[in-house]
Amino acid sequence: MTGAMTMRQMTVPFPRRPKYGETEIAAVTYLLRSGSLSEIGRGPACAALEDAFAAAAGTTHALSFNSGTASLHAALHAAGATPDAGVAMSPMTWISAITVAFHAGSFPLFADLTEDSPNLDPAQIDPANCSAVLVTHAWGVPAALREFTGLPVPIVEDCSHAHGALYQGRPVGSWGAAGCFSLQESKAVSGGEGGIMTTSDSALYQRAMTVGHHPYRLAAELTHPDPLPLAGASYKFRIPALSAVIAREQLRSLPSRMSDSATNLTLLTQLIDAMGLPLAPMAVPDGSVRGWYGTPFTMLQPVLDPDALNAACTAARLPVRALYPDWLTTPLLQQPAVIERYWPHMRGRWTPPDVRDFPRYQRFRQQTLILKIPDLPVPDYMHQLAAVLATTLRSL
Ligand SMILES: *Cc1c(COP(=O)(O)O)cnc(C)c1O
Repeated sequence: MTGAMTMRQMTVPFPRRPKYGETEIAAVTYLLRSGSLSEIGRGPACAALEDAFAAAAGTTHALSFNSGTASLHAALHAAGATPDAGVAMSPMTWISAITVAFHAGSFPLFADLTEDSPNLDPAQIDPANCSAVLVTHAWGVPAALREFTGLPVPIVEDCSHAHGALYQGRPVGSWGAAGCFSLQESKAVSGGEGGIMTTSDSALYQRAMTVGHHPYRLAAELTHPDPLPLAGASYKFRIPALSAVIAREQLRSLPSRMSDSATNLTLLTQLIDAMGLPLAPMAVPDGSVRGWYGTPFTMLQPVLDPDALNAACTAARLPVRALYPDWLTTPLLQQPAVIERYWPHMRGRWTPPDVRDFPRYQRFRQQTLILKIPDLPVPDYMHQLAAVLATTLRSL
């Protein structure tokens, strides 16, 4: 038998709960037997999901969509994003959460991260230049919402990595003018595909509804004078009832999955400390509860070659989640002609981002290892993980 300290490779496969359990299967079966998979108004599947999300986030409203991207599109539109002033955001997110600013009739205005988090730094934002701020709770680490809500511009939270997370004891998705959660399959609450927006602003809720909900639902719910003329609009971003009932069940099991993930991370952190490994889980702000998507660890020694680190971790079968590509250098955002052709409101307006303006973002990319933490009790796996991490990091 190989001793723990010399263990070079994970032998245990990544432990997983069944992604969809008996309650999801029962909910889908029930729905199929009902013979009704399409809800054009706020039908029972859609209403149950929206009510559960609003209750979990502590907001007055929740509005379902067929993707997280669609929920961001609607939220940015409803929050008042304009072509004249951009949407401030960090580049540390998924690409569709960047390009959605164009789709919502505005554009991304990148700003750097804070010194010690994967999140946007409020001090880097000039409210005079932006019509909205998109704050992502990247890798489940809640952003400094208290500082953002002091800005004189609407905040939209992207909670796609942070279902169930709290900031200063209060749910993410309830701090900004709106919160958006992807329900795509890799996220902590999945409908297969789907998205949901939370808000306690009834005018914003109604404006967001005009982006993608059925004219019957608009007719039933619109009362505010601003969105009312759009009651006949018919974009189509509705969630399928099948996805809604699955996501509703996933939300029920979220607390137990979060608590098992937290227990596993605590054990891993203790083992890492005891072994003196040059690695620390990125801290969450005081009074916060983290969300789960991949968990960022800061490498405490300079990483000279992040690709070599990733290759070594992959060879050791460590459960690493790759960082997103660096979107600042992605061809699309570097070609004004393409941006201007695809989004005509951008004619003569797009300046490609320059990576040198984002030193903290670049350092985060260099010095961070994202590990997937299992969401069921697996102390043996966590012990093996610590041992293989030790061998891998020492071999670099
Ligand atoms: C997944 C994700 C999205 C997009 O969600 P979809 O449901 O895939 O459209 C947006 N932002 C972040 C941070 C995400 O991780």
